[in-house]
Amino acid sequence: MKVTEIGSRGLMFDFEDGETTLGQTIVYLIKGEKYFFLCDTQTGSKPMNLVKDYIEEELKNKQLIIFNSHYHWDHIWGNDFFEDSIIVSHSKARDNMIENAEKELKENSKFVEGKIKIKYPDITFDKKLSFEDEGVEFIYAPGHTSGHAICYDKKEKIVFVGDLVEEPIPMFFDKDLDAFRNSLEYILTMNANTYVTTHSYIASEEMVNVNLQYVKAVIDNKKTPEKILKNYPDIETLDKFNRNNVMMLKYENILKNSNNNFDGDRFREELYKEMKIDKSKYDSSVEMIASIDKDKLEKKLKEKV
Ligand SMILES: [Zn+2]
Repeated sequence: MKVTEIGSRGLMFDFEDGETTLGQTIVYLIKGEKYFFLCDTQTGSKPMNLVKDYIEEELKNKQLIIFNSHYHWDHIWGNDFFEDSIIVSHSKARDNMIENAEKELKENSKFVEGKIKIKYPDITFDKKLSFEDEGVEFIYAPGHTSGHAICYDKKEKIVFVGDLVEEPIPMFFDKDLDAFRNSLEYILTMNANTYVTTHSYIASEEMVNVNLQYVKAVIDNKKTPEKILKNYPDIETLDKFNRNNVMMLKYENILKNSNNNFDGDRFREELYKEMKIDKSKYDSSVEMIASIDKDKLEKKLKEKV
């Protein structure tokens, strides 16, 4: 495990092979006066045990607050590890977790590291939750998912942005790209001096801007900006995934609103079948979704609503 001190009270934990099944997925800790704030919990008890060993002495007289930035499995599987901790998330992240966590655990079981019991947040917030004396705030910042939030260390001007910012482009798991754009614009107004991400370590302000330009390009149905493509030629698959996934999510939302019994998984399976996609590939992986022709997909989706 590699631990990087950030500012006077932040620690970024990065795990190595053998410690986690999913590398480049950090957790971030803010050491407050009364509370320690742990942002996300990686893939299970094994990486969390390493964090515990590292902070055990200092943690003795503190209360641990765990913050889940969003519901995805690589951010919540260690939730159950720390006894006596209090888990906090946005209310939608908790709803998303209740809906998806057991399913995600089944689908991604090969990534389980140590022991896992899905544990849902104890406390939720809608707009913001502030620990005033500590100078720590959890702030709703949707985009990557509908319940995504960030953690701001106001004293140090360090913001943990979770999966909202990635190098060079973020991933889209929610249909509302206007919300994504607003969240990135908001982050840029915070005047933070450090942006801590989950999968890309520390991002520069320039990288936050690049993410914003990309989100805007997709909203406007324009090509990915040339300067991003030039520096990162392999993002084509991810870019196609994002555009196709958002389109499917938009149509699924229309159908969900008009049918209480709408089953998203079944819908996608039928859609893939009708589009004659090889059944062995119905895994909704990034590669599979990226491989679908966008125009054909749009035509098919239009027929469904
Ligand atoms: Zn995520």
